[in-house]
Amino acid sequence: MNGLAKGGLALGGMVVGMMALKRALNPRPRYAPWEKPPYGEFDHKVLVVGGGFGGYTTATDVCKFVQDRDDVGVLVIARDNFFTFWPMVPGIVSSDIDARNVAQPLRRALITAGASFRRAEIRSVDYERKVIVADGGLEFPFDQLIISLGGQPNFFGIPGVEQHSLLMRGVEDAERIRNRVIERFEEVSLIRGDVPESKLTFVVIGGGATGVETASEIHSLVHESLAPDYPNIDPHRVRIFLLEGLPNILPELDPALRKAARTRLVNERIDVKTGAMATEITENCVKLKSGETIASENVIWTAGNRPNQTITDLGLPYDERTGINVDLTLRVEGHENVWAIGDCATVMDKRHADGKLVPPTAQAAIQQGHVVARNVMKTIDGRDDLEEFEYKPLGQLVELGSDFAVNEVMGVRFTGLAAALFWRMAYLVRLNSPQSRARIAADWVLGAVLRPAVTQVRGTSKE
Ligand SMILES: Cc1cc2nc3c(=O)[nH]c(=O)nc-3n(C[C@H](O)[C@H](O)[C@H](O)COP(=O)(O)OP(=O)(O)OC[C@H]3O[C@@H](n4cnc5c(N)ncnc54)[C@H](O)[C@@H]3O)c2cc1C
Repeated sequence: MNGLAKGGLALGGMVVGMMALKRALNPRPRYAPWEKPPYGEFDHKVLVVGGGFGGYTTATDVCKFVQDRDDVGVLVIARDNFFTFWPMVPGIVSSDIDARNVAQPLRRALITAGASFRRAEIRSVDYERKVIVADGGLEFPFDQLIISLGGQPNFFGIPGVEQHSLLMRGVEDAERIRNRVIERFEEVSLIRGDVPESKLTFVVIGGGATGVETASEIHSLVHESLAPDYPNIDPHRVRIFLLEGLPNILPELDPALRKAARTRLVNERIDVKTGAMATEITENCVKLKSGETIASENVIWTAGNRPNQTITDLGLPYDERTGINVDLTLRVEGHENVWAIGDCATVMDKRHADGKLVPPTAQAAIQQGHVVARNVMKTIDGRDDLEEFEYKPLGQLVELGSDFAVNEVMGVRFTGLAAALFWRMAYLVRLNSPQSRARIAADWVLGAVLRPAVTQVRGTSKE
């Protein structure tokens, strides 16, 4: 074979390979647009409210179960038209991960699976007429209703938290935190005299996984990305505090992993204070129960979660702190065809006799989504052998920067670079958008050789 023929063959192979890759990354939807029957015309209408971990899992599972049936229609209603892949949200702060890939296209994923999607905010439910009422009085009918509205921050009535702190409850919040750090660097680089300590002090309140990851991400942003671009600011003047009211950070982790995480934070010069209860936050300081104050104009609140307060308008039995009351099959007490899962539901942990609840985590919401999908199908088919939910914790992964993590997976504990690589692989394969998966993988590969850009394109940290 001459050189020209070999070249032609290689080019042909490349074209075929690209076409196969394109197809794998862009799966075909179950229905072509003109084939899809309207949701309202199905005999059994399954309405899922919330397109997060719980809602998305339920909807896609039901779609799988009814692939060969034409009597069950699935509609998802959510406030956002994207799926927030929460474990990667802190990574947005250091620009390790692009916000657009963490906010994955929900509409496309659901339509590909065979469901319908409407962006709307639920306001109330009429159980007699079996309709939910959304913003603007829009009504959506259902035969089976699954509620998975997630959670929201809890400020525990501490004065000043709501007014003066940044939150870590979504993609926009993570962008706001990054913008705040950049803004402070820009501001300080213009100051001629003494710089008030409060400008370059960042206080993260809450020593759970979100707080630990956020403090680490701020450290990476400052030292890896900003420091070289602001030669007149010594990065060691930046102080990062991590405050936890309990005696330990990461209280749900094994003590050895906790210790490894704390050592890493201390090595990064992050000031970890445990048993440190914030009692008030003002414009320029955090007051602690001990009487100590920390001068800071940059406070990030990650310390508390509660169920989405929309549940209080739904006329269902609920507990203010833990969510809608469900039985072990995840059916709402007193309602044959209403189910609740995830962070907005009070789900008993069957493994414990002492009334312990299932924790509000993504893995719990996903497992509940699988069970509720099966129970909904059994109910539609008139079966009464419903499955009880039993939580099977798979472990916990906490990333502290791109080269260190503390992981516990099925009882195996490991830390360091290998754990960080495991963190990345484990979450990469769990992303439901193949496009986001490919883009994040490409970003990580490029990130190993390129420094992230640190521009503040839109908005300020106050918006
Ligand atoms: C920063 C952060 C990091 C986290 N990291 C991890 C982790 O690493 N591992 C882990 O296991 N867990 C993690 N969690 C917890 C995890 O994200 C939640 O437990 C999980 O998302 C719960 O799933 P859900 O379906 O109940 O709610 P969500 O996934 O939050 O979904 C809620 C859905 O409801 C919709 N919605 C809300 N209000 C309305 C309304 N009024 N009308 C219509 N739709 C509405 C939203 O748009 C969204 O689609 C993290 C949480 C945070 C905040």
